[in-house]
Amino acid sequence: MSIIRKLLPRHLDIIFEINGRFLSELRENGSYSEEQISRMSIIGEGGEQTVRMANLATIGSYKINGVSALHSGLLKEQVLKDFAELWPEKFTNVTNGVTHRRFLAVSNPGLSGLISEKTGKEWLTHLEQLHKLEPLATDTEFQQKWLEVKLENKKFLSRFIKEKTGVEVDPSMLFDVQVKRIHEYKRQHLKVLHILSLYKRIKNGDTEGISPSAFIFAGKAAPGYFMAKLIIRLVTSVAELVNNDEDTKHLLKVVFLPNFSVKQAQHIYPAADLSEQISLAGMEASGTGNMKFALNGALTVGTLDGANVEIREEVGDDNFFLFGLTTEEVQNTKSAGYHPYKIYDQDQELCEVLDMLVSGEISKGDTELFRPIYDNLLGRDPYLLLKDYRSYIEAMEEVHSVWRQPNEWAKRSILNVANMGKFSSDRSIQDYCDKIWKVGAVKVN
Ligand SMILES: *Cc1c(COP(=O)(O)O)cnc(C)c1O
Repeated sequence: MSIIRKLLPRHLDIIFEINGRFLSELRENGSYSEEQISRMSIIGEGGEQTVRMANLATIGSYKINGVSALHSGLLKEQVLKDFAELWPEKFTNVTNGVTHRRFLAVSNPGLSGLISEKTGKEWLTHLEQLHKLEPLATDTEFQQKWLEVKLENKKFLSRFIKEKTGVEVDPSMLFDVQVKRIHEYKRQHLKVLHILSLYKRIKNGDTEGISPSAFIFAGKAAPGYFMAKLIIRLVTSVAELVNNDEDTKHLLKVVFLPNFSVKQAQHIYPAADLSEQISLAGMEASGTGNMKFALNGALTVGTLDGANVEIREEVGDDNFFLFGLTTEEVQNTKSAGYHPYKIYDQDQELCEVLDMLVSGEISKGDTELFRPIYDNLLGRDPYLLLKDYRSYIEAMEEVHSVWRQPNEWAKRSILNVANMGKFSSDRSIQDYCDKIWKVGAVKVN
């Protein structure tokens, strides 16, 4: 409130007026306890006063949309429960979508051509038509063509990476990609723990089950977000370590592409084999990168968060590498009292990998550079990286095992694309028209 009072004093007056009127309506209604009323107030009391922007938005809005089935449910059942009881008709869901004209037709001409050759061009305006690919998923000749298109896209991205970072990436490697804004809840540092685990195994002479992989990161950090910037520093430090170590450089490559943008993204999504959607369950409202990847034939390793849940429902459990706690398990873990150092104590590999953060091994002898990450993970670990670590490592072992069966991989990739019709923004905009805006089509003569 102190910030709003200073920057927007008149707005604050109006917020108080809205709140005053709203709370008297609740009191006149007669069925609300003072406890409920204070929960629904726009002003948070107890300590320093705050302005609850979600409450303000809820009171002021005609409709409330959580942008995926999971998060619309969380809003109704938990975050805004009192409001959902008062105004059930306000609460709705429109799952996000992406524009497949940009993110498939324009950015992946190779795959688009192959799809049109087999199914016609109707998918450009009716994405459900991708279903026509389904019978081709087990056609070995088609699988071959499918994999050739992916390889061409990976060759292109390799040249792009070489130009931007100087790192040489072999296009035959598994392209394991995490591109999105840098945030602790998105857990780019969980991906780093996986890379360090592989590094340690290889250094110990254990290369069994490890498929040669290129780990490709990109994403921006907010200017004032210290931990996000430190995570980027961690990725680039780990890149320098594994890319230059004679024992690991043929098996592992790590790149961080600077200046992630939509234009750059259009080169990345079509070249991905694996899509990393590893946020802590309950944190990612929807995600749209998850859709762009799957639409371009990447398989997903992910948690039951945001639209991942619906993508998995559409493409089938067998074609999605699932790991990690559910939203409910996250809540139970936190309320039971979570002690990350107990997990650290009981998992030898995790213990060794975490200690690398402060051993100086990845930071040219500097034992303090990554200590804030180390302390955060062993202290509160607010995004439960340690809790989900073992399950993630196991999911990645499964990924590597399927990767060694190209026909199986191709089949799953084709089935992913064939079942992504729901995630066109054409469908989500139609849902907005029907459920929220209540507008029909205009007849064009
Ligand atoms: C799609 C996209 C995002 C969103 O990615 P998520 O993985 O859903 O967080 C962010 N930035 C750019 C440039 C994108 O194209």
